[in-house]
Amino acid sequence: MKIIFLGTGTSQGIPVIGSKDPVCLSQDKKDKRLRSSIFIDYKNTQIVIDCGPDFRQQILSNNIDNVDAILFTHEHADHTAGIDDIRPFCHKKGAMPIYTHPRVMKNLEERFSYIFATENRYLGAPSVVPHIVLNQDFKIKSILIKPIIVGHGSIDILGFLIDKFAYLTDVKTIAETEKSKLKGVNTLVVNALRITKHPTHFNLQEALDLIKEINPKKAYLTHISHKLGFHKVVAKKLPKNVFLAYDNLKILV
Ligand SMILES: [Zn+2]
Ligand SMILES: [Zn+2]
Repeated sequence: MKIIFLGTGTSQGIPVIGSKDPVCLSQDKKDKRLRSSIFIDYKNTQIVIDCGPDFRQQILSNNIDNVDAILFTHEHADHTAGIDDIRPFCHKKGAMPIYTHPRVMKNLEERFSYIFATENRYLGAPSVVPHIVLNQDFKIKSILIKPIIVGHGSIDILGFLIDKFAYLTDVKTIAETEKSKLKGVNTLVVNALRITKHPTHFNLQEALDLIKEINPKKAYLTHISHKLGFHKVVAKKLPKNVFLAYDNLKILV
């Protein structure tokens, strides 16, 4: 399984517009973070998790020419606002299969009604094939995907487990039953927003605590804000099996 981190930043990305924070002003490429998303290439199937406002740029800069399906973790704009830019894929292959929680699907239908419209469609508008994800395994082509339900403040959102690879973002809490699905995971991706605590996202310590408990071979931190610090500095302080992800990082699982 090939993974590309298309983006590893929190909702505003890094740099934040107009910010004079030293991390926002950093010239290190690893301190420039687009909104969080990953590309998975496995068993001749290409999947993207989340489709934020940087989707077009992310797909172009990684020369991606096919996406078979998009999984959405939740409805927040930093994970969904790029959906209009699936158009080139729709023009080539038809409606894009999308997979998410029923609440998230309803939210997308309301915000992007022209994409879901069945009548009087605008010529060239993107189209989707909606698939509802409950707490049950599902398949995209021959790939089996296990949803992991996690808490993100007051809402439940989705993480995804594919074989021994798990992707969790925007997590603040995780129930024991869901945690138990992650036992034996080889590579775990999890969010770590900043050093201090936050009401709806793990801070660094909370992410490290979960990693310690799950004990994967390797863990990668994502959904990072400038308040976590410089990539170079933070990366050095992490446990041996924990890595700070950065945009366009490619890994093999
Ligand atoms: Zn987010
Ligand atoms: Zn969110």
